[in-house]
This record gives sequence, structure tokens and C-alpha cells, in this order.
Amino acid sequence: MTEDAIAAKGWTARILTLFPDMFPGPLGQSLAGKALEKGIWRCETMDIRDFATDRHRTVDDTPFGGGAGMVMRPDVIDAALAAAMRDHAGPAIYLTPRGRLLKQDLVRDLATGPGVVVLCGRYEGLDERVIEARQLLEVSLGDFVLSGGEPAALALIDACVRLLPGVMGAEETLAEESFNTGLLEYPHYTRPAEWNGRKVPEVLMSGHHEKIRQWRHAEAEETTRLRRPDLWDAYQKRGA
Ligand code: SAM
Repeated sequence: MTEDAIAAKGWTARILTLFPDMFPGPLGQSLAGKALEKGIWRCETMDIRDFATDRHRTVDDTPFGGGAGMVMRPDVIDAALAAAMRDHAGPAIYLTPRGRLLKQDLVRDLATGPGVVVLCGRYEGLDERVIEARQLLEVSLGDFVLSGGEPAALALIDACVRLLPGVMGAEETLAEESFNTGLLEYPHYTRPAEWNGRKVPEVLMSGHHEKIRQWRHAEAEETTRLRRPDLWDAYQKRGA
């Protein structure tokens, strides 16, 4: 397939998994689901088991060196990746707690490309040699252990899809949200103006756009300073 033909398909998430029925799952609903229906993005699954070569369709084996659990075989995974990447120009991502933490800058990069090939691990994970040989981009959702890569794939794809042109309504929703400015977002309020004795900050009812902007910016700074000193340091160093 030519690069033009790949681009014409739209942003494509191709997911390698032992549980293809988990997709699109929640991504078939709401914003991502509507975008899927409109053809703004494509969700393709490949069953890793289809690349096994024995009659039991085995994809894993015991670890060399002993220890608990099973390891996904490099030959099976490599065959699945070869098929997945044949007509897909996006990066091949392996979701793993050992990977680079998923952050909004990576999400933005991925959303502006042709899509992603996402490999969902199970058991103890992948044989290291296929990670090296295929130069997989290792990405982690956070410092915790899921039972499989599928929930992480859903999160990563959701974060990308909502940035695709035509998926979200108002562009400023994206511009102001957490991480785009280097800050966490300011707090939100809606009706009723008083709820259980709690009032909405007066400035938000003032109709004074500049004062509201300043208040929100100050709140975003304060929230970031208190909750995320790492982001706050980076923000200050940038001199924003
Ligand atoms: N033995 C691995 C370890 O200690 O790092 C955990 C394996 S976990 C039970 C099975 C699979 O879930 C992993 O191969 C990976 O694909 C996925 N997974 C688990 N936690 C994850 C996380 N925080 N981010 C991304 N993927 C994760």
C-alpha cells in the first residue's frame, strides 16, 4: 500500500491482542464512537493467536531462568507485528509498566501521525528480543500493574482520538485543558449557583471576561503548584 493510500484510510489504531472482543469497547460510545461512525478514525484488531504455529495456538511459554508466570513468544509476536506493520505507517507501541510514561506531548505527536500499532501484553509480558528487534516504543500508563495491555490501549487511543480534527466541538476546550499550557486546569462550576450552602466564586458570575481569565489562570497555577511540583517547576523554568 502506498503512503497516500495509508493516509486516505484516516487515523488508524491497529491493536494486537489476545482479546479482540475488548475493542472498540468503550471507544464505540460517546465522542470516540461518533468519530468512529463518521470514519474519522479506524479501529482494527488482530488476534495474536492467529500467528501461532502449533495446533494449540500457543502464544506463550515458560521463562528461561525459571520463575512464575509465562512469557509471550518472540516468534509469534514478531509474525503478528510484521503483518500489522505491512500497510501501517504509525509507530509500533508496546504497552508496559517499564515504558516511558504516557503524557500529553506524546499523545499529541501520535494524534498528528497516521495512527498507531498497539501491542497489548499479557502474562509476564514479552520476550525482550522482539522488543529490541522491532524497536518497539515502550509506553506505560502509570506506576501500577494492569492484568493486560488492553485497558492501557483503550486509554491511549481515547486520548489520541479526541485530538483528531472534527472530534471535539469547540477548539478552545482543547487549548485550555490540563497539560496544554503546562498547568493543570482551573476548577469548573455550573448551576445551581448555590448548592448545599456552597457558592460559586463571585468573579465567575461577574461577566467580566478579563477578570475571569485572570482568576482561572491564578487557580490553574495554584492547583499545579500544590498538587504537581514537578509540573510547576517545569512551567516556571519555561518562564511561561
Ligand atoms: N510482569 C510485568 C511487570 O512486572 O512489569 C507485568 C505484566 S502485566 C501482568 C501484563 C501486561 O499488562 C503487560 O505486558 C502490559 O502489556 C500490560 N500492562 C500492565 N501494566 C501496565 C501499565 N502500567 N502500562 C501499560 N501497560 C501495562
